[in-house]
Amino acid sequence: MYDLIIIGGGPAGASAGRAAGMAGLKTLLIEKAEFPRYKPCGGGLSEHAKSFLDFSIPKNIQERNISGIRIFYKGKVVENEKKKIFSTLVTRSMFDEFLMKKAEETGIEIKMSEKVIDFNEHDNFVTIQSNKSKYKSKYVIIAEGAGGAQDIKIPLENYGYMKLKEEYDIEFYDMSQDSHSTVNLLDINIHPMPIQTSNLMLDPNNYIISAAVMKTHGLAVVTLGLKNIVLAAPMNFGQGKNERGKLHTEPMMEDPRYFNYNHFMMSQYAFPDLTVIDGFVGMEGKGPLFGDPIEVGVAIASTDTIAADRIGTDVMGHDFNNVGHLVHCANTKMGVGDINKINLLGDKVVNCRKNFKRVENWEKIIKWN
Ligand SMILES: Cc1cc2nc3c(=O)[nH]c(=O)nc-3n(C[C@H](O)[C@H](O)[C@H](O)COP(=O)(O)OP(=O)(O)OC[C@H]3O[C@@H](n4cnc5c(N)ncnc54)[C@H](O)[C@@H]3O)c2cc1C
Repeated sequence: MYDLIIIGGGPAGASAGRAAGMAGLKTLLIEKAEFPRYKPCGGGLSEHAKSFLDFSIPKNIQERNISGIRIFYKGKVVENEKKKIFSTLVTRSMFDEFLMKKAEETGIEIKMSEKVIDFNEHDNFVTIQSNKSKYKSKYVIIAEGAGGAQDIKIPLENYGYMKLKEEYDIEFYDMSQDSHSTVNLLDINIHPMPIQTSNLMLDPNNYIISAAVMKTHGLAVVTLGLKNIVLAAPMNFGQGKNERGKLHTEPMMEDPRYFNYNHFMMSQYAFPDLTVIDGFVGMEGKGPLFGDPIEVGVAIASTDTIAADRIGTDVMGHDFNNVGHLVHCANTKMGVGDINKINLLGDKVVNCRKNFKRVENWEKIIKWN
């Protein structure tokens, strides 16, 4: 049995391997590629990153030192030059191979061209299954990089969702593996913009439940039940090929009318049958990714998603009329947006309201009309 198995031999895995080897741990590093391998990367190595290395980088791997920066944006150029070096450029294929050698020289075992495909946790050890063999280790470090987690089973296991599968007899489905059809939205020139969309989401026979979190959003003002589904429908093929990106291009983001109209258009194809909004802890400020938690303590559920989102928007202390895609849906009778026509069960909105801090670009994104 190993003390430690490391999956992946990029900079993270190789550095962990060297540290483990120097600490005298019986270590195995498994890397699926044969080195040197190509790695898409700018190769900019900051001085801070270099400060973690206990050895110097050979001259033949250093391509050049960077002491200045030049940014081109919309015909403008911004330049700044410092007296000191703040980054060194390396070619990743050479750099990663060098780091691997530095790990190997500490005496750890390395297996190249071997891919880890599964693992199982036991009380005092972990079993690792690769495409070639099975191993046992006390500890495991997963250093597979951003493109590694192609198999949804691993995160589902890690977060304990697989237990739900046994308890409730449900299936998990990786939507990036789904078949897809074209939905045409609107591009910046008012031409059809084909979006490859999950057939699972498009099938009217499927009952879709949106389990959304209450958050502010830097393009949509707020994100609730509808947006949660509308942007889950475009295919994410992995490796940076995400159809959703077509709705977030720079010219589109300059004009909120496109964003809101396209969300409304996609709602015609992929629409939740039931919305459940988790507002126990929401996100305010720089949502939907970098905001702050805000305790609200509410849950909102409705088979009318627009009504649920209307109540959610009110609870957040935002004006429903600022949320263009929801107003489009309400105006075209896809749901009820008029607060006076919603039969609200439970506490009154005024008793639950928490005024969520707005996103910084709020004034720009409410101009959707
Ligand atoms: C276009 C681009 C430009 C970038 N530019 C910069 C930059 O200039 N400066 C900077 O600091 N960062 C940059 N980055 C980020 C940088 O590339 C990553 O932060 C870095 O590679 C992460 O290192 P890692 O060891 O975690 O993962 P990786 O370098 O991705 O290494 C992971 C390794 O794990 C292996 N692996 C994956 N799955 C398995 C498996 N199942 N079994 C066995 N092995 C497996 C892979 O083959 C790979 O070798 C850039 C990234 C991109 C995409």
